[in-house]
Amino acid sequence: AKWVYAFGGGSADGRAGDKDLLGGKGANLAEMSGLGLPVPPGFTITTAVCTHYYANGRSYPKELRADVEAALVETGRIAGRGFGDGSDPLLVSVRSGARASMPGMMDTVLNLGLNDRTVEALARQSGDERFAYDSYRRFIQMYSDVVLGLDHEVFEEILEEEKAGLGVEFDTELEAGHWRRLVEVYKARVEEELGTAFPQDPHEQLWGAIGAVFSSWMNHRAITYRRLHDIPEDWGTAVNVQAMVFGNMGNNSATGVAFTRDPSTGEKKLYGEFLVNAQGEDVVAGIRTPQNITEEARINAGSDKPSLEKVMPQAFAEFVDIAGKLERHYRDMQDLEFTIERGQLWMLQTRSGKRTAKAALKIAVELAEEGLISRQEAVARIEPGSLDQLLHPTIDPAAERDVIGMGLPASPGAATGEIVFSSEEAEEAKAQGRKVILVRVETSPEDIHGMHAAEGILTTRGGMTSHAAVVARGMGKPCVSGAGSLRVDYKNQTMLALGRSFSRGDVITIDGSSGQVLAGAAPMLQPELSGDFAAIMAWADENRRMKVRTNAETPADARMARSFGAEGIGLCRTEHMFFDDDRIVAMREMILADSEQGRRAALAKLLPMQRSDFVELFEIMAGLPVTIRLLDPPLHEFLPKGEEEIAEVAAALGVDAEVLRQRTEALHEFNPMLGHRGCRLAVSFPEIAEMQARAIFEAAIEAGSKTGRPVEPEIMVPLVGIMKELEFVKARIDAVAADVMKESGTTLHYLTGTMIELPRAAIRAHVIAEVAEFFSFGTNDLTQTTFGISRDDAASFLETYRQKGVIEQDPFVSLDIDGVGELVRMAAEKGRATRKGIKLGICGEHGGDPASVAFCEQVGLDYVSCSPFRVPIARLAAAQAAL
Ligand code: PEP
Ligand code: MG
Repeated sequence: AKWVYAFGGGSADGRAGDKDLLGGKGANLAEMSGLGLPVPPGFTITTAVCTHYYANGRSYPKELRADVEAALVETGRIAGRGFGDGSDPLLVSVRSGARASMPGMMDTVLNLGLNDRTVEALARQSGDERFAYDSYRRFIQMYSDVVLGLDHEVFEEILEEEKAGLGVEFDTELEAGHWRRLVEVYKARVEEELGTAFPQDPHEQLWGAIGAVFSSWMNHRAITYRRLHDIPEDWGTAVNVQAMVFGNMGNNSATGVAFTRDPSTGEKKLYGEFLVNAQGEDVVAGIRTPQNITEEARINAGSDKPSLEKVMPQAFAEFVDIAGKLERHYRDMQDLEFTIERGQLWMLQTRSGKRTAKAALKIAVELAEEGLISRQEAVARIEPGSLDQLLHPTIDPAAERDVIGMGLPASPGAATGEIVFSSEEAEEAKAQGRKVILVRVETSPEDIHGMHAAEGILTTRGGMTSHAAVVARGMGKPCVSGAGSLRVDYKNQTMLALGRSFSRGDVITIDGSSGQVLAGAAPMLQPELSGDFAAIMAWADENRRMKVRTNAETPADARMARSFGAEGIGLCRTEHMFFDDDRIVAMREMILADSEQGRRAALAKLLPMQRSDFVELFEIMAGLPVTIRLLDPPLHEFLPKGEEEIAEVAAALGVDAEVLRQRTEALHEFNPMLGHRGCRLAVSFPEIAEMQARAIFEAAIEAGSKTGRPVEPEIMVPLVGIMKELEFVKARIDAVAADVMKESGTTLHYLTGTMIELPRAAIRAHVIAEVAEFFSFGTNDLTQTTFGISRDDAASFLETYRQKGVIEQDPFVSLDIDGVGELVRMAAEKGRATRKGIKLGICGEHGGDPASVAFCEQVGLDYVSCSPFRVPIARLAAAQAAL
């Protein structure tokens, strides 16, 4: 095997495509060198060596020593220097470089090759003794820390003592003689601490550094970083050994970093910073204030420090030329590192630059317009999830954050307002024109109004599919859920956070994109949906196969979703329509009625309200498909809780409080999620389903005649597990349809289908498809019932599962493809086997998750349906999945 890849002098063994073997840095150094750009020569020890190292008790392949020595000779030949040479020494840097960038997680050693002899040569060559001895002491410090395990504090202390003794404040005030003496003190200290002298043999130094870099793949920081960024351990790191170039060899030397386009706005402008007479680390460390690269940027920044363009016009011109070349070559915005050694420009790194979501859009669109990439590539380059940043107000990234708590990023966007602890207060405040954050332990369907009135929602319990999270996402309201470190005390109307107490009326900000809770009002940036955003969405739509619908039940949500490009409603949860003031009264009357007749009387009051809801939705959707789901939650959710509320409601309904209490108690269930809900309600009380079906049909006729576009409603029966359940309910729906057609003298086209949200439904899908004209996968319940994990209680332990590596991702957020996905795949196949062309969709929260959307494309669903604010994300994800 080839373990070592050389680069430099206008050629290279490797290429940019060899990232797996050479790591990102090594592959790009090879590529730049192959392009003939000025790259200091060197070589890359491959990731395969890393793998070998760990598979063989931390030892190297036996040929490695000879290969490295040979590569070192070649590096020296190109550089015109010799490693360890007493008159013209080659010094090298030794750096890690994995396939994916892991900034600062692994170890680096610079100035390697310096010893008591070569430092003299460096002093002679550079004509700068101070520089030479400063480099040597930096090397001793870095090497001792990284390779020998001696804390760098030890050396900082020595340096501080020296400076105190001399009565100086800054390192720059020390002279050559001081550094020379410090080197002796450093070396003596190393020997004292370790019992052996600091290694003088450059080869010994090199192998020590190589070993340290490979070992750092398994250090704590690196392991944690990999876990957070899903980087597999078996990738390993490469080691790059490269001739040193010095940006700190006087005032005609410099070092800097640059982006070929502005990484925060995406504007096509070289953007970067540099420092004269400094080493790379100094720019990043932020000790000195860096200077702008271009004159234009300097003027815009109002800086009085001269630009690179001004101080080194020749190197600048060459750099601009190379930056343009690299961008065209890689066909993407590049992040560059360079050093100028005595007027000579050297390129040290190039890679695709990190950028904000806004910049990503602009850059992709402009690269496509410049003809560097195709429109498809532009679409493929945008991370769908990042669109979230653009659809909501966000906290100004430059602002300071006074973080007082952390929860789940349940619904994106940021919001500021006064704390209120109840939905009633939220509504009152809203009516007075005050902005509030609704702070609850958890929310329930009764809080819908308060949630509507609030700017954002904060709960201390509940996960990503808790009531608060689902409803907030649906409304497009920022929400942080499950912020467990906060204590809400309803009685005293306070919230405790990290020892601070916040009262009703105190202003807080929540960041639903990060899960942070902040004290006070944070400055915000507003969304912008035209221009580049619109262009990418249009290009995405050209490449998309699946349709994208929305989960919506209010006209506001439906309109919002349409403006985001929704192509219909995939889930209208009708229960949300029963919580309005006068409706909840009729609903409760219905629940309290002890006969079918009583129920029908109450339902008759609800009918016109439901009908007008549906007319409005059908009108907004103007001929697009609308799926309406029959009542799903257990009835007790509509009843009051607690003695006080029961008394109040009883008075309002004109019934005895005791009767109401008993009915509430009778409806109590131990596991309401597995209880009397979904189609089980329709089987027990068919008159409810009949009322809803009638409202749907009458509305379809009315809206159809109003808009001139016929409405073909899709009626969806929830929680079916047994074919006969659906058969029973469908017979009632069909009977109502026949009645309505007769009464109105028109014909109606409609579909009756079911949700597949129970494992049994998936297993029996071929039989259910005999009755169902469409399936919509309700993956929230399907995940809950497949795992046997309560979606409302999961947050308390799923995070622990993730931390301990038991699961990689919350299955309520991203579809569990191996398990739940297998049921979806199977049910889709079985459904099609029985009913060719059966319409298939998904309406669980996963319908807006990019990875889950990709899976839906794979199994060939016809559409995905998601909350309004996720519609653009789903459009883009669906396009990418189809590309
Ligand atoms: C589901 O279970 O996936 C679903 C969409 O229904 P709900 O979230 O209303 O239970
Ligand atoms: Mg469900």
